Amino acid sequence: KYSTSAAVEDPITPSVKVNYTQLLINGQFVDSVSGKTFPTLDPRTGEVIANVAEGDARDIDLAVSAARKAFDDGPWPRMTAYERSKILLRFADLVEKHADEVAALETWDNGKTYEQSAKLEVPMFVRLFRYYAGWADKIHGLTVPADGSYHVQTLHEPIGVAGQIIPWNFPLLMFAWKVGPALACGNTIVLKTAEQTPLSAIYVAKLLHEAGLPAGVLNIVSGYGPTAGAALASHMEVDKLAFTGSTETGQIVLELAAKSNLKPVTLELGGKSPFIVCEDADVDKAVEMAHFALFFNQGQCCCAGSRTFVHEKVYDEFLEKSRKRAANRVVGDPFLGGIEQGPQVDGEQFKKILKYIKSGIEGGATLEAGGERFGSKGYYVQPTVFSNVKDDMTIAQEEIFGPVQTILKYKEVEEVIRRANASRYGLAAGVFTQNIDTANRLTRALRVGSVWINCFDIFDAAIPFGGYKMSGHGREKGIYSLSNYLQVKAVVTPLNNPAW
Ligand code: NAD
Repeated sequence: KYSTSAAVEDPITPSVKVNYTQLLINGQFVDSVSGKTFPTLDPRTGEVIANVAEGDARDIDLAVSAARKAFDDGPWPRMTAYERSKILLRFADLVEKHADEVAALETWDNGKTYEQSAKLEVPMFVRLFRYYAGWADKIHGLTVPADGSYHVQTLHEPIGVAGQIIPWNFPLLMFAWKVGPALACGNTIVLKTAEQTPLSAIYVAKLLHEAGLPAGVLNIVSGYGPTAGAALASHMEVDKLAFTGSTETGQIVLELAAKSNLKPVTLELGGKSPFIVCEDADVDKAVEMAHFALFFNQGQCCCAGSRTFVHEKVYDEFLEKSRKRAANRVVGDPFLGGIEQGPQVDGEQFKKILKYIKSGIEGGATLEAGGERFGSKGYYVQPTVFSNVKDDMTIAQEEIFGPVQTILKYKEVEEVIRRANASRYGLAAGVFTQNIDTANRLTRALRVGSVWINCFDIFDAAIPFGGYKMSGHGREKGIYSLSNYLQVKAVVTPLNNPAW
């Protein structure tokens, strides 16, 4: 049952050193104006990894001025697109070269397994930058066949200074989703990292400068949301805001953006995604996929398949196998090989998850596996499964953001569509069936931004991602992300040749 907790009580010392802890403004590492720092903690122990410069509104001001100057005076937006593309490609090569250090920093700061950081996230990061490097010199406008004697064209121009606020669950990938397209389009950036996980972004930003990025184009401010984050969202010189995090904070930043200079905002927010197992599903495969959909990344995914709807015909078998699968999930020090689950990111998330588990038990759901902390050190939680979950229970409605699977029974396709859609969220859904008609029916009826049929969490650089309803505005990745970072200028010239 689970892995031995010996390594959890006596954690491995990571081989990487933390070399960068300052803010990165105008190409320079600097202390914060206040001189303050904040600790970033190792989720395996709660101990301090490093003290990091704590930016606030004054540092955001300096960073925005640097980004403004780099945008208005160049050279970045006026460099040839091919030059920009080459810098992004060189950066991808450098990250690949330093992949071990990048992956180790990510695991140390976040708690995700080293295997996941090294085999999945660093390669995806590199792929995203190569993907957007490929777009840099393929961004162009149209000639428009307008009525009258006019030559009409559209110019696709960079939007300006982009403010970007990212969360802690995928620090590197959120950096890539936001910074990649913004740079490819010729913008300059002020990025605020999550206070739980500041380390990997500063490290890779240094590599980006080594790759040839001019000073001021990407500025990184570590710090807290209500200070640094809010200052960025409400800044008058920021032309666009991209945010990923909770729905509640999304509402705050949207309001700050509206009340300051009406900067356009893209939001990637929370979810409570249904994973629907149909009566004809191959149960063994469905169990494994549903398990992955929920437990991946310690359950800390905005699109986690956190409402597992199972058809009544296969419910009992599915439940028994899911319970066993969770009980056999290997939890332990994320730096060890073969570990499937590390600690939650911090004490706050850890407590919140245990509170939700308590609420599930008190609310009348049946605890099938887990239910407690794992070991006695750090923020590990046992893989937990609830059955007999009802739609109106808190654990079926709110985002738990932890390793807690909630299994619900259904009978009819129309019923599961109605119940799956009865959520304020609309981020993603999983559909498990061998029947193409059922798959098509569900795909079209579900009000969500991504549907994964007989798979889950496929995050290719080219596939757009984003939410319906309170899961957000706009799409990231793929071609869709480019429009977040471009302005369209219509240019009209009379054609003075009467023959035309
Ligand atoms: P959060 O929304 O508070 O934090 C996300 C980012 O927003 C961080 O960089 C944070 O510093 C910043 N922020 C916070 N308050 C701000 C403010 N007033 N103005 C501007 N920026 C601000 O999320 P959290 O507190 O880290 O996590 C809380 C919950 O959010 C989690 O339990 C989970 O449910 C959800 N969450 C969702 C995602 C996602 O990808 N959708 C990611 C992380 C957390």
